[in-house]
Amino acid sequence: MKVKAAIATAKEQPLSIENVEIDEPCPDEVQVRLVATGVCHTDAIVRDQWYLTPLPAVLGHEGAGIVEKVGSAVTGITPGDRVVLSFANCGACASCNAGHPGYCADFVHA
Ligand SMILES: [Zn+2]
Ligand SMILES: [Zn+2]
Repeated sequence: MKVKAAIATAKEQPLSIENVEIDEPCPDEVQVRLVATGVCHTDAIVRDQWYLTPLPAVLGHEGAGIVEKVGSAVTGITPGDRVVLSFANCGACASCNAGHPGYCADFVHA
């Protein structure tokens, strides 16, 4: 499936809006048709390499949309569900255990 993505290609350079091809969802993934999204501070610090992340990277981890497909292992979510997206959290670090998953120390690897 062809989609449009905001790609960070190099440190401190403007994002490149490109058409890319995505695979079918993996067993633990869902495919969402976004109706709203944005690029936030976290994306900006990834682009600028304050938060070291291999580039190129597709940025934009927040949004709202409608589920189109679900992977074979996904439960509790079905196509047609309206969802909001954010980053993952590990569920095990001090912030997660204190009830603050928005401050997860390991959200990149969760
Ligand atoms: Zn964000
Ligand atoms: Zn955590």
